[in-house]
Amino acid sequence: MKGALKLGSISGIGIFIHWSFSLLIAYIVYSNYKDGQNTTQILWAVLFVMSIFLTVLLHELGHALAAKRYKINTKRITLLPIGGLAELESIPEKPNEELVVALAGPMVNLGFAILTSLIIELPSIENMAGMLTGGINSHNFFLNFFLVNLWLVVFNLIPAFPMDGGRVLRALLAFRLRREKATLIAARIGQFIAIIFIFLGFSSSPFLILIGVFILFGAQAEANYTKTNSVLSHFTIQDVMMREFISLKSSEPVKNAVQLLLQGQSTIFLIMETDDVVGTLSRDEIIRALSEYGEEVLIADVMNKELNFLSPNTPLEKAYNILRQSSASILPIMENNMLVGVVDTENILEFIMIREALKKL
Ligand SMILES: [Zn+2]
Repeated sequence: MKGALKLGSISGIGIFIHWSFSLLIAYIVYSNYKDGQNTTQILWAVLFVMSIFLTVLLHELGHALAAKRYKINTKRITLLPIGGLAELESIPEKPNEELVVALAGPMVNLGFAILTSLIIELPSIENMAGMLTGGINSHNFFLNFFLVNLWLVVFNLIPAFPMDGGRVLRALLAFRLRREKATLIAARIGQFIAIIFIFLGFSSSPFLILIGVFILFGAQAEANYTKTNSVLSHFTIQDVMMREFISLKSSEPVKNAVQLLLQGQSTIFLIMETDDVVGTLSRDEIIRALSEYGEEVLIADVMNKELNFLSPNTPLEKAYNILRQSSASILPIMENNMLVGVVDTENILEFIMIREALKKL
């Protein structure tokens, strides 16, 4: 993700924080200052936000470390002002594994809530409101921490995608049903909940409307993603591979690529050095190179060097997931150390459309 600063890494997983996070801190300082809070109170408020983001980080780490048990790596965890994002390389498809990975996050928050409830004396409901007014201070810091963690457990377990609860629901359904069917039912239940939220939101809080809309989109995205993967799971690269493709030499200037771009239909090129593939060059990368360095710059200096070599019998699902995560938009396909073809995203998307159309007949 662009604009994210690396904080470090924990068991091989890079931890990043997005720059907009500083805006959140600035906003908290400003709004507390405007409310006439003194420096100590403002510091408590900032400390509180940091503590919440630490728990969000640990929540995401919970998912990542649970996934690691099933040999699924996590590329990175990014902290955004709206929450955390753990980028798992794939989602476990066995229901019991998905269940463990999905629950691992909220369980971290439940753990924190239980721990804090042990060290503080919980006030009665009547006294609660009184303790919470006037911002965060040394008396109510842990009470607030307890409540936020409890809220994170409840919020994340709403049984709707993209919440963890949506995955829990799908996993439970998938013990009985095919995964695709389970996803569809889970997505529909999620959308139903979203509509209830939106309705309730109109008469109570706009925040509920926001969550409702968020769920509506998330549920549809998950349904589409699973549908795509289930179409692809029956095929291999062999079924879509393009045997004809255009290549350029890394020693050529970018203007040669521009020529090819204008003359033909190809928008992505393989870059060769003698007989080896050394990089790729897409239309966007050509345009960027032109605007930054002009047309005489060598392809070697501007090409995309991220390469993933696959073989013709690699499952198509895997190729698609690699393309989604890679910065390169084309994959060279090798057989016995020989380049035999290429696959790009457009290629695969066309294939999905064709399969979907045939299915409807
Ligand atoms: Zn989570």
